[in-house]
Amino acid sequence: MFATYCRSTNCVALNSGTSALHLALLAVGAGPGDEVITVPMTFVATVAAICYTGARPILVDVDPITHTLDCKKLERAITPKTKAILPVHLHGQMADMEPIMALARRFNIAVIEDAAQAHGAEYKVRRAGSVGDIGCFSFYPGKNLGAYGDSGAIVTDNAAYAEKIRLLRDWGQKPKNTHICKGYNYRMDGIQGAILSVKMRYIEAWTEARRCVAARYDDMLANSGALLPIECAGRRHVYHVYSIRVPKRDLVRARLEDLGVSTNVHYPTPVHMQPGYADIGYVKGDFPISEQLAEEFLSLPIYPELALKSVHEISERVVHTLRSIAQ
Ligand SMILES: *Cc1c(COP(=O)(O)O)cnc(C)c1O
Repeated sequence: MFATYCRSTNCVALNSGTSALHLALLAVGAGPGDEVITVPMTFVATVAAICYTGARPILVDVDPITHTLDCKKLERAITPKTKAILPVHLHGQMADMEPIMALARRFNIAVIEDAAQAHGAEYKVRRAGSVGDIGCFSFYPGKNLGAYGDSGAIVTDNAAYAEKIRLLRDWGQKPKNTHICKGYNYRMDGIQGAILSVKMRYIEAWTEARRCVAARYDDMLANSGALLPIECAGRRHVYHVYSIRVPKRDLVRARLEDLGVSTNVHYPTPVHMQPGYADIGYVKGDFPISEQLAEEFLSLPIYPELALKSVHEISERVVHTLRSIAQ
């Protein structure tokens, strides 16, 4: 059901989005001595999964408008060691997949999509997960399609990758009790599959509801002074997050909290500046766009059940707060 939804041919159910990234990387052969290219403006899981395989994460900054991998900076990051490119569909809008795929094909490199925030997002006629060689999804309860606990999946048109991932998720057994490789315990719980199969009926309606909330914010905040998320032509943004950019973000956030509007930040620290990732070899200043976004991003409330009346009230408080701070 999920493969069809993604316009792909195979889906393998797993126990988390992180496991999906880990097994996708193993399936394309990433390991010690290899390099995998991704972005610093993402959830740490993207980079953690690369580290799990023993490959080295090579980071490329994001585009200031789309907040996804900057294709103009991609080619110079490719080396003979590059095994895969791992674009992240941040906040629910797909990365610019056409130039990424063209470069990957030219250099014979695999493309794995981190679609953990992008269930149902589109790039031209394709859906998230089905453009690259393998697409990785999370069904963590807070994602656009969430189970009642952790779970995830991969989708792929490549039957051999699907087979390899099926083997790795269940201890490398084939047949049962014969372990032909060292696998993992990464199976999806049956209860999560059952819940997801029911929630699948609603994903399109929920996605459209998110898009309505986003459209109302777009209208209401057009002249607020905040930079708003941009939906690129030919793409369907599914607004896992609606993140505006504001100066003095922490002050704006505190004022809004006082006015009863809870906000969030995705993400306040790019991965290359996280203490646990100092060993990947980057320092503050290496990725100026990601670093600036980390200082300015402010995620406003968004979920399918959010009433447009509430969106209106939240927007008025955002406009009021930005005006009072600018004075
Ligand atoms: C949530 C998320 C993940 C990890 O998914 P889990 O199911 O929590 O393991 C990976 N990448 C991104 C971009 C995410 O948002």
